[in-house]
Amino acid sequence: MTTKYIFFTGGVVSSVGKGVTAAALGLLLKERGFSVSVQKLDPYINVDPGTMSPYQHGEVFVLNDGAETDLDLGHYERFIDTPLTQVSNFTSGQVYAEVISKERRGDYLGGTIQVIPHITNEIKRRIGLAAKTTKAEIMLIEIGGTVGDIESQPFMEALRQMKNEIGRENLFFVHVTWLPHIGATEELKTKPTQHSVSELRSIGISPSMIIARSDYDVEQELVDKIALFCDVEKRAVVPMTTSDTLYEIPLMLEKVGVADFIVEKLGLKATKTPQLSAWEELVEKVKSEKPTLKIALVGKYVELQDAYMSVREALRHAALSIGMEVEIDWIHSSTLEKDKSRERLKAADAVIVPGGFGERGIEGKILAAQFARENKVPYLGLCLGMQLMCIEFARNVLGYEDANSTEFSHNTEHPVIDLMLDQRDISDMGGTMRLGLYPCVLTKGSKAAQSYGKKEVDERHRHRFEFNNKYREEFEKNGMIFSGISPDNKLVEISEIADHPFMVSSQFHPEFLSRPMRPHPLFVGFLKAAKEKSKK
Ligand code: GLN
Repeated sequence: MTTKYIFFTGGVVSSVGKGVTAAALGLLLKERGFSVSVQKLDPYINVDPGTMSPYQHGEVFVLNDGAETDLDLGHYERFIDTPLTQVSNFTSGQVYAEVISKERRGDYLGGTIQVIPHITNEIKRRIGLAAKTTKAEIMLIEIGGTVGDIESQPFMEALRQMKNEIGRENLFFVHVTWLPHIGATEELKTKPTQHSVSELRSIGISPSMIIARSDYDVEQELVDKIALFCDVEKRAVVPMTTSDTLYEIPLMLEKVGVADFIVEKLGLKATKTPQLSAWEELVEKVKSEKPTLKIALVGKYVELQDAYMSVREALRHAALSIGMEVEIDWIHSSTLEKDKSRERLKAADAVIVPGGFGERGIEGKILAAQFARENKVPYLGLCLGMQLMCIEFARNVLGYEDANSTEFSHNTEHPVIDLMLDQRDISDMGGTMRLGLYPCVLTKGSKAAQSYGKKEVDERHRHRFEFNNKYREEFEKNGMIFSGISPDNKLVEISEIADHPFMVSSQFHPEFLSRPMRPHPLFVGFLKAAKEKSKK
């Protein structure tokens, strides 16, 4: 079997939905009976996004095997619903680190190490490795950034080389661009698309398809113009207007026959007729009038909602499953600290405190947990959100005023959250947290167990700190239930407040496993409680 490759490059500007396009197309091809996998190539120098601020990069998406990856992998998993692995995302940092370590080992003795061929060979090796390990018939490969970026040149060059090595007939290049709208003349412009295509051509790559993203409807005349100036078939110019919901994109692409066109061009034959009725129903549900639940999300990166991409999607999936809609009030935790204003919390049907690192904004999140506990407002804490719920409980229920996590205070007398034992000798920051899937045993009768309807679950993690077991008994005596514990009984995975409609928090990140058709049980439990609250 020859693997077929579909490459996605970006033109004009970034953030126009290249990742979602790749994910949606992956779904359409999977639905035609092909085995597909996805890979994201990130041209930046960091080894992975794990050490980057969410302000720079948005959320870090964690896979089952613990890989810390680009948020586009979240789109891929949500749409295609096949778990990805370490090989599904790599960066320039990883490529250069590998080549340099080989050089030090003496693997290239006598040679001069150059971008071509050493770096490009390593890029191609990693692409091949993903194809081999996933055994996919079709690999969808997205190149981060925009054509013309200095960092992406070796990646483009590697793709160009693949044309001759693998055969042009096995490769398909999708170029996703943006059509700016000029307000004064009320028109869309194709010139930036023409420029980015000519930039791509100068590297030796001709697009097989142009997806022209736009906020406005694109007339046929413009499609024809792009086809003419960019030298692609008219059928291969696909205008894609911004949609109200991400989940409509597969349907939009299907309607204009994108997947059939690609299958034809790659010389493949579909073995199945795509069944998209579940997606159609989902989109219908999204668009229908529904009662709204107001959720206060208290975080420190709220200016950039991409930092909480999976949390937002998990809330949406769960809400749809109970016939509701969520309206998220993005509250900056430090504003909560300053004016102690609880008005926005009061207006919410439920409070969610997502993950985070570092001291900034911590006290505001603790105030949010206190508010939820005292007023019996449904609360869902994710990772840091669980740790802070425990700190709040220690301070205000047990009376340990200085209770804290050693992440924020080394001299607290009550370190109810402490660095995990396995973490004590670690000094490197990259890729060293407790990462990926771990099992968790649920406590019978707890809200967590009720939500899951199971005895044991596996969930994805990303943390260094944990609940300090010295305090377990005392917490339990005073109304905290540890409703999820690691099978060796060493690690608290879920905590909940006994006398509360729903105050449940997890040390793991349930949001990474929520899928549009399979909403996460903890999010569903949380929103059901929010719905009850909204009735009152
Ligand atoms: N900073 C905390 C820890 O490392 C929480 C991490 C998170 O929220 N992902 O344990």
